[in-house]
Amino acid sequence: MASLLIKNIKELITMDDQLRRFKNYSILIEDGIITEIAPEIDVEADEVIDAKDMWVFPGLINTHHHMYQTLTRNIPEVQDMELFDWLMILYPIWSRLTPEAVYTSTLLAGGELLKTGCTTTVDHFYVFPKDQPGTLIDEQIRAAKELGIRFHPCRGSMSRSKKDGGLPPDSVVQTPDEILKDCQRLIEKYHDNRVGSMLQIVLAPCSPFSVTTDLLKETIVLAREYGVHCHTHLCETKDEENYCLEIHGMRPLAYMESVDWIGPDVWYAHGIHFNNEELKLLAETKTGVAHCPVSNQKLASGVARVPEMLDMGIPVGLAVDGSASNDSSNMIAEMRAAFLLHRVIYGIKSMSAERALYLATRGSAQLLGRNDIGSIEVGKVGDLFMVNSNRLGFAGGQLDPVSALVHCGDTQIVDYTIVNGKIVVEKGKLVTVDEEKLIADANRISMQMIQG
Ligand SMILES: [Zn+2]
Repeated sequence: MASLLIKNIKELITMDDQLRRFKNYSILIEDGIITEIAPEIDVEADEVIDAKDMWVFPGLINTHHHMYQTLTRNIPEVQDMELFDWLMILYPIWSRLTPEAVYTSTLLAGGELLKTGCTTTVDHFYVFPKDQPGTLIDEQIRAAKELGIRFHPCRGSMSRSKKDGGLPPDSVVQTPDEILKDCQRLIEKYHDNRVGSMLQIVLAPCSPFSVTTDLLKETIVLAREYGVHCHTHLCETKDEENYCLEIHGMRPLAYMESVDWIGPDVWYAHGIHFNNEELKLLAETKTGVAHCPVSNQKLASGVARVPEMLDMGIPVGLAVDGSASNDSSNMIAEMRAAFLLHRVIYGIKSMSAERALYLATRGSAQLLGRNDIGSIEVGKVGDLFMVNSNRLGFAGGQLDPVSALVHCGDTQIVDYTIVNGKIVVEKGKLVTVDEEKLIADANRISMQMIQG
């Protein structure tokens, strides 16, 4: 049995139902599961961390991302474009993705996430170039295992190209038959729904303007047969709303309801342009929303009504989205963005630092349908991160660790990240991956893709 003892914790933020915090406590993790939380734990563990200066938080959970886009972030040409124009420039560059590019970008984005306290991540991968092998998500899974991050890869898809009235070019769309066969293959090969699972497959047609109605219908039937969750982009922009009204004669959520894409096993990325009736429907059906405040601000897509959603009981999690629309994979920065954005719109009481942390932990766990992640409690998995309180950016601000994490500077690279009881970031560095080599590989592949 593998055991890790974290002792003398300066302050432990549990995010349990009572939002309890403990000072001078210890945690024991055995075979990936938290088995004891107490002031003193007297055992001989395989590894011991003395956390006397550390604030300890539950691992953050990222509920929407496009890791391959790390290779095309910050391209000058698209910096001042809204979503549809931005996509039209980027689709041809993305059509040059190779297995090496997908593997490397997953290491890169996953590495950034781990270094900023994220222990579980979703990735929504939907670009399958015609001249490449169909096993690109397998490359992502290989990279996630190497990093040691808990992973929910979404088998994305695009089946409606320009010639059928969609947005993407022909070179990156697949037939419904190809898509559904691969969805089934991935579920049967990888999906693990046990407590403590490191890998769960999600089915995720890309958006209403890039897939056909039949594919949406068939995907949700397949997902429910296997008990896996479904995910897509929805209500991100007014352009998308106009597209749905014009092509389907319905607003986006009505369209999704018409294809049975609603319920606690479905969550949407963005969810900005819902009206009051639609919010009520989300609350009644417990359909979830992944809030992406940085991407929404950068692409000028709008502001999701998150404080109202939370008050109504709609499941809401947090996500970095991107990377071409963010352009980082930093969940602590994302919490800060959510915290600031909603205060401007909804007032000073709408979003506390603790509420932002709740979005990134418990809220996100709910979207993924998981009870074993999102808080530090006995019986849950050993996913957490630690920041050293003795830093320049925290000096003079020691009274509240959660506020310090969300408000103060100099806090974004964490000291330790632990996933399933294993140390994967130590003293701010990735443990299992050579960071220098990763940076060089990513820059080389990125230039090849951009220059064609
Ligand atoms: Zn997205």
